[in-house]
Amino acid sequence: MEGDKTTTTMMCTLLAMDLTTFSYRVCSLCERTLPEDPTSLCSFCNFNARSKRLFRILMSLASDTKVFTVICFDRAAKVLFGCSADEFFDFAKLHPFTADTTSRILEGEMVKVTLSKPKNGNAHLRMSQVFPLRTGFRPAIETLKEFYGVRSGC
Ligand SMILES: [Zn+2]
Repeated sequence: MEGDKTTTTMMCTLLAMDLTTFSYRVCSLCERTLPEDPTSLCSFCNFNARSKRLFRILMSLASDTKVFTVICFDRAAKVLFGCSADEFFDFAKLHPFTADTTSRILEGEMVKVTLSKPKNGNAHLRMSQVFPLRTGFRPAIETLKEFYGVRSGC
């Protein structure tokens, strides 16, 4: 059976992440991808059309033998970020340099990841699960709130 070889689990270090685009819009009902234009609505669910954001982040990981790039989707990203993509998006709008700060918070974390190969062999590996290994790991949003909360005083 070939199917079993499409996922691997390994220990890695988070090296870097590209947070210039960290999420995308989908219909909150059917989760079809929507254009970034906030006025565009799902044409399949137009009466109840609302949108939400899901995480999609390019990350560099280092294993003991190599450095490689993966795509981290919503479920795994929530483990690292501790919030929904919407919450992070709103936080980033209000707080300058959120992306840079988040990268600094998460870079160097040791994680156990499950990676799956996409059906299209040329695409990046997908991080389907992530498990932080450090005792006392805190999701990025908690550290961010503390970091920015001190200065805004609210
Ligand atoms: Zn829809």
